[in-house]
Amino acid sequence: MAVSPAPSSGHLPRTSPRSPWDAPPGGAPDPWTPWAGPEALRRQDPELADVLLAELRRQRQDLQLIAAENFTSPAVLAALGSPLANKYAEGYPGARHHGGCEVVDLAERLAVDRATALFGAEHANVQPHSGSSAVLAAYAALLRPGDTVLAMALAQGGHLTHGSPANFSGRWFDFVGYGVDPVTGLIDHDRVRALALAHRPKAIVCGSISYPRHPDYAAFREIADEVDAYLIADAAHPIGLVAGGVAPSPVPYADVVCATTHKVLRGPRGGLVMCPAELAGRMDRAVFPFTQGGAQMHTVAAKAVALGEAATPAFAAYTRQVVANARALAGELSQLGLTVATGGTDTHLITADPAPLGVDGPAARRRCAAAGIVLDVCAVPAPDRPGGCVKGIRLGTAAVTTQGMTEPEMGRIAALLAAALREDAGTRAEVAELTGEFQPYP
Ligand SMILES: *Cc1c(COP(=O)(O)O)cnc(C)c1O
Repeated sequence: MAVSPAPSSGHLPRTSPRSPWDAPPGGAPDPWTPWAGPEALRRQDPELADVLLAELRRQRQDLQLIAAENFTSPAVLAALGSPLANKYAEGYPGARHHGGCEVVDLAERLAVDRATALFGAEHANVQPHSGSSAVLAAYAALLRPGDTVLAMALAQGGHLTHGSPANFSGRWFDFVGYGVDPVTGLIDHDRVRALALAHRPKAIVCGSISYPRHPDYAAFREIADEVDAYLIADAAHPIGLVAGGVAPSPVPYADVVCATTHKVLRGPRGGLVMCPAELAGRMDRAVFPFTQGGAQMHTVAAKAVALGEAATPAFAAYTRQVVANARALAGELSQLGLTVATGGTDTHLITADPAPLGVDGPAARRRCAAAGIVLDVCAVPAPDRPGGCVKGIRLGTAAVTTQGMTEPEMGRIAALLAAALREDAGTRAEVAELTGEFQPYP
């Protein structure tokens, strides 16, 4: 099927002359209808409608600096709130366990074709319900319980699915952790190689929740080949930057690429896996029926919309601005005295130790929250401290860039953050002033 950036419904069966999903003749498109929009919710359940409205207000008023978050487009939200939510669709297009899947099959084929074209992958599976489900499926496809896996240590930026004892991964597999060089904050590939040679893992996982630099996928591939291990790239964070052409792609190097669709990629909450054709059957069976049941077709449709958006020049320009903003913000934060890990960033993500300003990460998050600045606490490498890391802060520029903020606003954000850490009165009002100028959903 040809890849088209914009959804086309020309070949869909028509049930009525005009459905609420058609653009009104001659008028502005209005996807929210009396039966499927906020009005329906308010009429039937005002209590919950108020909760949704309160969350919309919070997203508009506060400064959203959580590195894993973004604002999806109204088109993505429309697909999420569509009647595809009603459809059961176990299996894959053309081979479903349920009847009536002919139409939703079109949505999944669009999503798959757009993903493979965008990332140059031979095969894509768009059904994982989340990034964690994508990683679970990758392990299920390639590993057996008890296998050894080499991944980034949790204290250094590994995800829960990279061997946390609180997660299935830490219970079912024997994880060995690699870390970053305590002085540079960069992944030490010699150390990764030494650990690989010592432990002979069945798989090596490359990916992190907090690494602000581009992973060296070629170096990881070489190490994996040396010990005959699979290479799994968990590109949950950078996959949107890869789509925009501002980060290297793991697709040519990894046996399986796991990703989320809701971070920089700006789609619905969900996961994505990509692999070469020879692993396609194993990967698909690992997603369904091994680890999941029916696909969430409204989310799959929303992934198709987001992948269509991500293939546009406007999205590429967006990702360039995301990185330019992160670099500007990292520079401003170090000027203010925070210790920025690795001295800066290649991506949307910054980690920093606010200790020089007299607060640790948890206190910084609390004070920022009180000022309407939303960010995360995160382990930041610190060579001179016990354990080699401290609790610092993690922030990202994906959401504020979607709002239209550019370098001058990064200066304002850094100043607001410093004011919040000092607990200056009036900071919350200044934050609201800034966000008021850059509404995500006008
Ligand atoms: C976000 C993330 C995940 C998990 O995504 P969820 O959708 O929250 O399950 C997995 N791995 C990495 C590296 C991530 O950053």
